[in-house]
Order: sequence, then structure tokens, then C-alpha cells
Amino acid sequence: MPLTRVPPVASTELQAEDIRWDLTDLAPDAETARSQWADLVERAEDFASRYRGAIASLDAPRMRAMLDEDDELEQELSRLQVYSYLRLSMAAAEVEANDLATFSRDRGAEVENALVFLGLEWIAVDDDRAEELLESPELEPYEHKLRVERQEKPYVLSELEEQALNARRPTVSAWQALHDRHVSTLEVPFDAGEGEQPHTISQLLSYLYRPDRDIRLRAVTSLFEGLAPRADVLAAAYDALVGDRLSTDRLRGYEDPMQPTNMSNELDGETVEAMMTAIEEAYPIARKWFVAKARLLGLDKLELADQYAPIGEARQFSWNEAVEIVDSSFARFSPRLAEIFRSCLEAGHVDVLPRAGKAAGAYCTSVSKTILPYVLMNYTERLRDVSTLAHEFGHATHNVLSLEQQTWRSHRTGIPMAEVPSTFAQALADDFLLENEADPATRAALAADRLENAFAAIYRQTVLARFEQRAYALRSEGRSLAVERLNEIWAEENGKYYGDALLMPEGYAYGWSYIPHFIHVRFYTYAYSFAQLVALLLYRRYRQDPESFAPRYLELLAAGGAASPADLVQPFGLDLHSVETWREAFVELDALREEADTLSTQAAG
Ligand SMILES: [Zn+2]
Repeated sequence: MPLTRVPPVASTELQAEDIRWDLTDLAPDAETARSQWADLVERAEDFASRYRGAIASLDAPRMRAMLDEDDELEQELSRLQVYSYLRLSMAAAEVEANDLATFSRDRGAEVENALVFLGLEWIAVDDDRAEELLESPELEPYEHKLRVERQEKPYVLSELEEQALNARRPTVSAWQALHDRHVSTLEVPFDAGEGEQPHTISQLLSYLYRPDRDIRLRAVTSLFEGLAPRADVLAAAYDALVGDRLSTDRLRGYEDPMQPTNMSNELDGETVEAMMTAIEEAYPIARKWFVAKARLLGLDKLELADQYAPIGEARQFSWNEAVEIVDSSFARFSPRLAEIFRSCLEAGHVDVLPRAGKAAGAYCTSVSKTILPYVLMNYTERLRDVSTLAHEFGHATHNVLSLEQQTWRSHRTGIPMAEVPSTFAQALADDFLLENEADPATRAALAADRLENAFAAIYRQTVLARFEQRAYALRSEGRSLAVERLNEIWAEENGKYYGDALLMPEGYAYGWSYIPHFIHVRFYTYAYSFAQLVALLLYRRYRQDPESFAPRYLELLAAGGAASPADLVQPFGLDLHSVETWREAFVELDALREEADTLSTQAAG
């Protein structure tokens, strides 16, 4: 059945190439932005002069007035930061945009420095007094975030100790920079059909999505041959960073190397472990798919290089078609979501096509309670661009609805919850497409893509987290993180996942060496497993009872970050501590696997 939805939204009458950001909602021009920055610095300093040293003595109404004023300052800061960031995203080489970015970074740091006392003084308020304030009705809109901030209290050291820890920051960053440089400067000679040329890691990785198997296999071999000689330095950087984190953890009194990440995600260790246990139990779902995929590709056995190989070829999607798909799939779920989507398009808050100098990828950024979010796309008419559009508008609708109800401070969530609405929105668009698309090859490609993206988020991110746990355990037992040791635990953790359904080449043992998250934010990756699984669970509830689900889901979006993830999903009957809850998500994932298998088999036949 072809897509025949009417009426088209106003913006779709424009050609895609005409659709660029209109930044006037943020600032009229760079000149004005600069003078507004100066005003903001002044306001922040004035605010600090009135409240610095006084937080402990404020009563609830004055505390509320102070927080409201801070919330205004934070939104002004956000507006000006977003303006300069978007200018740079549109034209990385433009002198005016670069000058403004530098200017904004400096002014932004001044504002943040002026406001930093607030958090420190709030943590220092004694527990009884803080509890009294938190229970007052005046502070209700800020309560949850204020509580979360205070959870850091037991781990904050004296001012002198904190200064000493801060003083070693440049050394820590130097290890990170060394790692980054070692990875980003790596160039491996590779012949992609036009003679041998130097290739970066990401160029080599992009060949894994090619239909040509020979290129895929050679790209994998070249990648790990290129990484092997650098592994020693990459391991040394990792060893130094893990050692440093473990010793500062000891000083602060953290019990577990995952604890700081868990705390910033507002998840407890028990929840994360229940989730990862359920994920590991469900590795066989992926293995079933690998066996099916080998059959579909006409292979005896899948190799690592075949993991993301395309099955069939999807057709192209014009921008107008993508807009219709997202609009219709959102409208079918809830008219309110489609309305937000259309308002952003009509306000000129979407930049569509790739251009020279424009930032790569896609993102959505929230601005303030009074300005709609902005979305960056690099639309190239591929099937996955349609999903990306839905994904970014999952974020945008979350931003808009939460900012309607919450303070600026309370609208934000950590990554685990932030990626739930985006993943859910993708599922809405994917299902709409699967129902309405006439081309069997496109349906097959979509079902396979969707499944493999879910695997990458759920399984691979968990393999990474398990690898990290073992690395920290080894290092805390006094063993150094040498290449052979890291190779060994990497191969073991991946082996648990792939089993005998997928062959790992020998070189894959070096697979840990280029992953930036290990170096920059420990245990960063499991948040993506969390978001995927919670989105699957919510989607299951939705399909079971669409009518009663939608309004409750909109309430979840509107709650933003005003409650913990556990409390946010509790109205849907999800108990995140229970392995049972997480197991249910895999019923849904297995259904996606079956769908991908069926549609791919049909398309091939
Ligand atoms: Zn996202």
C-alpha cells in the first residue's frame, strides 16, 4: 500500500534544500549575542553577590525566589550557548562563527564560575535543615534535582583535598589526549577498489555496511593489523586512567567503580546488574539471528565482517515522504506529538541537507521554556535517515512537553531516560513504515536494520560494560592492564555474546583498543542498553492497550527529569530491580527478530 496521507504539512511544500535553520528565535545576529553575553555575565555576578555565602540561611520562599532566578539565568545561558553552537554547526570554517564560539566559551565559563557556589553551598547545608526545606511546598518544582545533588555529599572531600585532586586534572586529560591522538591519527593503507590509499578507523568501519563481502573482510583485517602496533600505548593510557580512577574512588569512599556512573544515571547497582543479567541470558536471540543472516547471505557461517552487512536494498525516501511518515506515525499515536513536530518545522528549527562545512550526524538541542528545540539532520534519502528524523523528534517532543511542565533544572534527564523517547519514536515510525511500505526489499531492510540497531545498543554495550568491570577488577587486584590481558578479557566477553554463531577473526582481540568511552566516561555504554530495553517494554505496553497508554506516556514525557528513572516508569508497572521485568523486554526483541527473519526470507524468495 503506497503512502497516501493528506493533508501535507505546510513546510513540506518547500523543497528540502530550502529548509535551513532560522536562528532568529535565538538571537538576531552575532553582534547582539555578544552584548547579551555581557549582560548575562553581569546578571550572574550580581546574583552571586546577593546569594554567595547565604544559601544556608535562606527560608523556603527566599530559596524558591533564588532558584527561580537561577533557572532564568540558566535558560539565558542555554539560549546564547545554543546560538553560538548552531552557528558553528552550520559553518565550521566561518570566521564570525568561530570568533563567537570562542567568545561564548569564555563568557560561558565566567557565568558558570559565578554560579558554582550554589551547588557547593547547597550540598553543605546540614541534613535536617535541608530536609525541612525539601519538604516545603515552595521547593516542590525543584525537589528531586536538589535531592540528587545532595547524594554526592558523602563523597565530597575538604576544599583543600578537592583542590589537590583538581590540580592533577591536566595530567589525567593528557592520558586521554594521548589515546585520542593515537586513535585519530592512525591511517591504514587499504584498497577499496581505487588503489591503495590511507584510511582512518572510521573509514574502515564504514565498509562493514557494504554489500561487497571481500571489502568487508579485508577492512576488518586491515583495521586490526593497523591497531596492533599501537595497542601498547593505548593500553598504557587505559591502565593509567583506571589506576587513577580507582585511587580517587578510594579517597572519596566509593564502594564500586561503577558507582559514580550509576549515581549520575540515578540508577542503583542492583538495577544495573538485574538488567545486565537478563541481557546476558538473552544472548541466544542474537545468535539465532546470526545463523539466519548467514543463511540469507548464502554463507555457512557469519563472520564479524558480515555482522552489519546489508540484506537487500531499501528504496530511497524523499524529504517530503520522510516528513509524512514521521507526522503520520506520531499523529496516529497522539496528535500532540505530531503538532510539536509540525511547529518545529514551521518555525524553521530543522536544518535538513548536508552541506560543506555543516556538522555531520544528527542531533536535537533544547533551548529554553519559551523557545522550541532545534534539530540538525544530514538527510540523504536513505531509509535510516527516516528513522533518524523520528529519533531526533522523539527528543524534541520530550523537550517541549517537559519544559511545559517543569523548571529548566528539572526538565533534564540523564542518558538512560533521555534516549527512551527517541527510541520509542523510532519504533512508531518503523512500525508505520512496515505497515504501509509496498516494496518487500525495503521492508526487509528496515526490519533487519531495526533489529541490528537494537542488538548494538543492548548487547554490544553490555559486552563493553562487562569488559570494563573485569578491567577495573584486575587493576584493583594490583595487576596491570597489559595488552595481552585486555585482549584476553575482550575476546572472552565477546565470545560469551557471539558463541559459535559468529566467527571472530584473531585480530579482533584488539577490539577494545580504540573505544573512546573507556577512556572518557567509564561505564558510559550501559545507559544505551537501558534506554533500548525500557523503550521496548513501553512499546509492548502500548501495543497491549494503545488507548490508555498514550496519555500516560505523554505524562512520562512531561515529567522530564523531575523523578528518578525507577519512579518515572513505575506507573507502567515496571519494577527495574527485578530481572523478570527485563526478561519481558526480550519477548519483544525476539518478536522483532522473527519479523526480520520472515520479511528477509520473503524478500529473498
Ligand atoms: Zn538520541
